[in-house]
Amino acid sequence: MTCRLAILGSTGSVGRSTLDVVDRHPERLQVVALAAGRNVPLLLEQARRHRPRLISLAREEDLPQVRPLAAELGADVVWGTAGLDAVATLDDADLVVSAMVGGAGLAPTVAAVRQGKRVALANKESLVMAGELIISMARRSGSEILPLDSEHSALQQCLHGRSLDQVARLVLTASGGPFRGHTREQLTRVTPAEALEHPTWDMGRKITVDSATLINKGLELIEACHLFQVSPDRVEVVVHPQSLVHAMVEFVDGTTLAQFGPADMRLPIRRALSHPGTWAPPFEPLLDLVRSRPLSFEPVDHRTFPSIELARRAMELGGTAPAAFSASNEVAVDAFLEGRIPFTRIWDLITGVLDGHQTQPADSLEVVEAAALDARRLATGLIERTVEP
Ligand code: MG
Repeated sequence: MTCRLAILGSTGSVGRSTLDVVDRHPERLQVVALAAGRNVPLLLEQARRHRPRLISLAREEDLPQVRPLAAELGADVVWGTAGLDAVATLDDADLVVSAMVGGAGLAPTVAAVRQGKRVALANKESLVMAGELIISMARRSGSEILPLDSEHSALQQCLHGRSLDQVARLVLTASGGPFRGHTREQLTRVTPAEALEHPTWDMGRKITVDSATLINKGLELIEACHLFQVSPDRVEVVVHPQSLVHAMVEFVDGTTLAQFGPADMRLPIRRALSHPGTWAPPFEPLLDLVRSRPLSFEPVDHRTFPSIELARRAMELGGTAPAAFSASNEVAVDAFLEGRIPFTRIWDLITGVLDGHQTQPADSLEVVEAAALDARRLATGLIERTVEP
């Protein structure tokens, strides 16, 4: 039976990899809706190839560029937040791929979960900002959340068939990013171009900077707590520069399971889309542990890279604090990429926002979005105060 996909964020890194997987399994996967941001030329190319019945784009002024092709395909065209909502809740879709970047992905993810959709989740910020809300909503609606991230996909595989009381710890691996081994002093001088050079993964700009700061791993720690219902003290992070082991689970009997695979997002994507089955043929190149030796593991330098500790602090504060953590990071990353703040200020801004944030119970999308907006304002204010003479 064909699985019909609605893809939120089709022109981003995960969206493009998802369409690559679709291309390899045309008999199993079919695209019924595509939602993109501002990359209209690529969206048109994707629509021409995959012939969705619904196309969504960010801006109303881009509609005229899409209408002729949409008419040819018999597709509807929508835009803005209503457009994302239409894609996320499309009746014809069996599975929604949530692959937008940042907090913008939260509302459409919530819409899909509320509708009881099966959701392949790559947008980390959704669970970070509103994890409890989304998990409890999924229980009520019957929505199934399938992790697309390589680490969470790996954890799901290692946990397969085991109950939570058998689990001692979840271990996420981190590549360490391009600045592994740097001192604080060296980090103050790194440029956006240097931060955008990731050693093992090819990803979008925001997540690449998040990998350089290790904030990405902090976000993944919070996600893991929600997805697998464990407390943050049962999730550990270890640096593994080769990015071939994606996660491990330590069981109470003293045994550990690890999941290995090449650093290729198409593998966890296909795993989620094929859930619970596995599809052939394999992706090349296959894992070659002999050629990629030695595999190494080292502790995180939390003093130099305080991201994981900041994420734990946000989780301990609870409520809307993780939303503030995530939103302040987005503002800080943009400011760093625009050359307005040094790399190390990213952590100072998040710390400043967590210090000033009034935590409330995160019991509705509105509360979470308001808290994120507050955090963005607070972070922007902190940047302006330091930039002004
Ligand atoms: Mg990851």
